[in-house]
Amino acid sequence: MKNPEAQQDVSVSQRIRMMFYVMKPSETSFQTLEEVPDYVRKATPFFISLMLLELVVGWIRKGKPPGGLDDALTSMSAGIVSQLPRLFYRSIELTSYVYIWENYRLISLPWDSPWTWYLTFLGVDFGYYWFHRMAHEVNIMWAGHQTHHSSEGYNLSTALRQSVLQIYTSWIFYSPLALFIPPSVYAVHLQFNLLYQFWIHTEVIDNLGPLELILNTPSHHRVHHGRNRYCIDKNFAGTLIIWDRIFGTFEAENEKVVYGLTHPINTFEPFKVQFHHLVNIWTTFWATPGFFNKFSVIFKGPGWGPGKPRLGLIEEIPEVEGKEVPFTSSASQLLKIYVLVQFTLILAFYEETFADKAVLSQVSLLLRVFFIILTLTSIGFLLDQRPKAAVLETLRCLVFLGLCRAGHLKPCFSSLSFALEIFFSICIAFWGVRSVKQLVSDPWR
Ligand SMILES: [Zn+2]
Ligand SMILES: [Zn+2]
Repeated sequence: MKNPEAQQDVSVSQRIRMMFYVMKPSETSFQTLEEVPDYVRKATPFFISLMLLELVVGWIRKGKPPGGLDDALTSMSAGIVSQLPRLFYRSIELTSYVYIWENYRLISLPWDSPWTWYLTFLGVDFGYYWFHRMAHEVNIMWAGHQTHHSSEGYNLSTALRQSVLQIYTSWIFYSPLALFIPPSVYAVHLQFNLLYQFWIHTEVIDNLGPLELILNTPSHHRVHHGRNRYCIDKNFAGTLIIWDRIFGTFEAENEKVVYGLTHPINTFEPFKVQFHHLVNIWTTFWATPGFFNKFSVIFKGPGWGPGKPRLGLIEEIPEVEGKEVPFTSSASQLLKIYVLVQFTLILAFYEETFADKAVLSQVSLLLRVFFIILTLTSIGFLLDQRPKAAVLETLRCLVFLGLCRAGHLKPCFSSLSFALEIFFSICIAFWGVRSVKQLVSDPWR
């Protein structure tokens, strides 16, 4: 029998509460996986509203507009890239879980019992702790997770900086739950666990008093994002900080946290943000002598080297002073506004593609994904001030006009199509002139 209280339509009150995991079992228990709402997609307006609220609070506190547009756009861009595979297939975290449930389950806990709900809450959070810890302690898993840590800022947008690769290893840590917990209950908590971690990415909230003992909070997670020596491999929690306290990885926030990777990548390009560490592993793998050493390069910590302990040496982590300045784009303010306009357009287009994916042809879907990736790459090139940025942007604008004419970008832009075609034509003229100048002056850069 279906649960009458649970509804696929998520009310405004539920949408607000789900951002903080304040949900009742009765309103979020479903018999089948198909009934489970896509809570994460429904949260997009709250992601944007809360980011704007944080911006305003930061502005008022500091008395000047907070910078970091380049960093925030790169984080949101990584969030978009990480979601694109979902246009084509269900996430591997669900597919693998359903497979194990259908073929190997030992018992079936009742989907409508509050006990199952609370047990799953703990189980998913425990699985997340171990996944997250291994994502820092196993080099090949770090290749995915490092994306999330590559921002040198710390605000709500950082939460959206997600890896496209990490889902291919995280499913392993949740799979034991499939031996006894129904997929519909798991799918609910997997989403709430992720949503909870959004609001803790902020410097606006200082300390939450006694809640700091049990919950993962902004303060605890700031430590996790730090590259100070005392922050390395600490506070892996998702929702409950108790796991770090139990397993000895807890560290309280004390000296000023400097955010980002210990070896900064200094780029806004989405491909580098997602995949640069795979290149590091590849080169280290071939440069390291001996079969077992090569094996260790992949499966021991990112800081490991022959003769060192599994997780490397803490003395090799570069010291920070607390005065470090986050990497910023040298693009002009006008160019940043242009990039913001293009990003807003592609965000609307991305949302619409998800909303209409059932009615779009496979070819249209593929072309749309190609255009989204091309746009985000071009934005990265512009922010990085790469020599070929003008050429890429000219090509991208031409692709836009081509796809528009071929009907693959409708209906999103249909009402605006005339205005947008004029806008993109002006862009082609502007960037085209710059491309020619660049190619004439230095064709090989
Ligand atoms: Zn992490
Ligand atoms: Zn984080």
